[in-house]
Amino acid sequence: MAAIESEDDPLARLQATAIALAQVMTPVEAAQAALEQAVGLFGASAGAVYLRYGDELRVQAELVGAHPAFPTVRLGEAVPVAQVALSGEHTYFDSLQEPGRADSSRVSSGVVLALEVKTKVIGVIALSFEVRRSFDRDDRRFAGAIAAQCALALDRALLLERERDVGERSAFLAAASDMLALSLDPGAVLQQLAELVVPRFADWCAVELVEGDETRQHAVAHVDPAKVIWAATLRDKYPPDRSEPRGLYHVVRTGKSEIYETIPDGLVEQAAVDAEHLRMIRELQMRSALIVPLTVRGRTIGGLTAVWAESNRNYTRSDLGLFEEVARRAALAIDNAMLVRDLEQAVQVRDDFLAAAGHELKTPLAALQMQIESLQRMLARDVTPANLESRLDKAARASTRLGRLIDELLDVSRITAGRLRLDPEPVLLDELVREVAERFADQLGAAGCTLQVTTAPTRGLLDRSRIDQVASNLIANAIKYGRGGLVELEVATEQGEGVVRVRDHGIGIAPAEQQRIFERFERAVENRSFGGFGLGLWIARQIVEASGGTITVMSAPRSGAMFEVRLPLGTTEGA
Ligand code: ADP
Repeated sequence: MAAIESEDDPLARLQATAIALAQVMTPVEAAQAALEQAVGLFGASAGAVYLRYGDELRVQAELVGAHPAFPTVRLGEAVPVAQVALSGEHTYFDSLQEPGRADSSRVSSGVVLALEVKTKVIGVIALSFEVRRSFDRDDRRFAGAIAAQCALALDRALLLERERDVGERSAFLAAASDMLALSLDPGAVLQQLAELVVPRFADWCAVELVEGDETRQHAVAHVDPAKVIWAATLRDKYPPDRSEPRGLYHVVRTGKSEIYETIPDGLVEQAAVDAEHLRMIRELQMRSALIVPLTVRGRTIGGLTAVWAESNRNYTRSDLGLFEEVARRAALAIDNAMLVRDLEQAVQVRDDFLAAAGHELKTPLAALQMQIESLQRMLARDVTPANLESRLDKAARASTRLGRLIDELLDVSRITAGRLRLDPEPVLLDELVREVAERFADQLGAAGCTLQVTTAPTRGLLDRSRIDQVASNLIANAIKYGRGGLVELEVATEQGEGVVRVRDHGIGIAPAEQQRIFERFERAVENRSFGGFGLGLWIARQIVEASGGTITVMSAPRSGAMFEVRLPLGTTEGA
């Protein structure tokens, strides 16, 4: 056996190789041992062991000779290692002309052995020799036996790695689930999650949540803390593109994950908007990435991006499954945390409201009690009809106010329970609003307000008492918040709709408050300065919307407010 350096019995050599290979635990160790054995046995000057990952071969161990091995080789490439990986045939090059060399000084030989287990090629061993040599039948048989041994050792190491992976994955999933189940703070949940992912399952990880029609980064973790800032700067300067047919927005829009097993430079170039962007992305050295949606109750609330960079690894489909599962659990946890937060806020609002409502009800009640007591005192003395009348008027007003407040409270439970029923009948809206305004004559006078009414005949099918309630509320507010100024009232038919406008020149409402005031219990003013439950506008909105209409406000602080109600008039034949 001329090819084998030692004169030992080949069987003994095979046995020694088997023992050396039996010690290894990881694929890299196995590749290293296989290379050492092959190089030693054949006296090669250089060599490399490649393992197959998908349709790529990656170097796992290398003895550098005249030329370093390619770190990765795609299976389709016209190079011997790729061809052997595809064919599974050991290939011997008895005389190899180095590419680009015309002289014969560096003529060498080579061998590429397929590492095959159960008819599957899991990798190759490539050896090269500086001297020209040939491989006879015995050499080839021996090389085949060595390759089979190495293949078995590598396969066992890969299997062990997969088992370790499965163990680590379930431990990771369990840790993530525990952490997610315990936390009720959505922000903290996401940061902990990102930190759990890095470094075992990504070099960096970012989580974004949908806010309006954008997404905002809530958490980011990186193996290299300096790069956290770098990634944040990149995101700030070049926010994700909403129109791209891939990437975070696409995932959020479609609810479907994306995986980039390898990120070719072409993709990076395509994604960059300018040279500076390209430079920044390249700096991150992204090698492989995946983006999974955070979906809960059929809604995508955000996305998680994981990237392999520095550690030179690649995601596979099985990683995608793991991340999708983690993202599903994270989305559930965030949703729960948000529900709890909303609930806590709602309870707080209700408690504040109950406290305020108690005070609110006490004011007219106190007035009523005062009038009754003073009437009792008067009875003991001489009662004059004039005194009696004014006392009784005041008592009646206080009890009306009390009644109205109680009605508002009852309306809340009625509307919340979905029991607001409208009873439409033919109504002259302009007349109805005038009648309401007349009822406010005393209050207008007491507040020093003047009223200006402009109406045009407006006929519609409407619930009289509910529209009365809406108009009353708007006029009462104009008086309450109008600082004694002019109150303008207008009723008209515009584009087939009945329009009621109530305008005052009082304290006004800041733009930030203009949505909120239509919500239940919401007020833009302090309780102490102005009485009220913060319910009137909410009830008005419920009535108007149930009637198919809209209610809006235009206002600015200290410039008064104009509330506009638009109501469909329906068919009014016979009105
Ligand atoms: P309430 O008047 O009982 O507080 P509303 O629901 O009627 O409740 O109004 C909600 C809030 O909207 C008020 O607390 C006040 O801050 C604001 N608001 C309503 N009408 C006006 C107005 N005409 N001018 C200024 N602020 C107003």
